[in-house]
Amino acid sequence: MAKAVIALGSNLGDRLSHLVHAREFLSGLSNSPLTASSIYETEPVGDASTHMYYNAVCCMDTGLDALALLEELKRYEQQYGRDPSAPQWSNRTIDLDIIDYDRQIITRQRLHVPHPEYHKRLFVLEPLREILPDWRDVRSGRAVDELIAESPKIEVLKTGVNW
Ligand code: ADP
Ligand code: MG
Repeated sequence: MAKAVIALGSNLGDRLSHLVHAREFLSGLSNSPLTASSIYETEPVGDASTHMYYNAVCCMDTGLDALALLEELKRYEQQYGRDPSAPQWSNRTIDLDIIDYDRQIITRQRLHVPHPEYHKRLFVLEPLREILPDWRDVRSGRAVDELIAESPKIEVLKTGVNW
């Protein structure tokens, strides 16, 4: 059994229902109850979008190996992560990233764990700290508090939204 940390994000359509649906999907892949952070509302970074994001982080126990888990997440994104009203097929409404897989360092063509960008993303680090306050990066050994202090500052607001 492997402990995996997944980051969820949505900025198109009904963001709350996208996160709720994705959480149910992750629960179905987990052999124990999911640990889920609050939902955070965050400003878009690194793309042309002006839509605010909903972000969260979940921790699960899975019997899938890392690549099989990635396949499941990608399949889910393709099947359910699209807004029927969005004009383009390529417009994703849900993003599911593997932040950590069982404290392993994985460097494959399709999968890099720890996720290569997460340590610069406050919208991942803040919900991560909420559920795993003692978290350390397996590669650098840095604590989540340090990563947050060093991360570019963006607006990340913890919401009280039930999900
Ligand atoms: P992003 O999440 O960076 O916005 P995508 O969701 O489109 O972009 O992911 C692009 C590719 O990143 C995926 O097809 C996947 O193969 C690859 N990838 C590499 N490492 C990871 C990871 N840790 N979690 C999820 N996807 C990853
Ligand atoms: Mg992704």
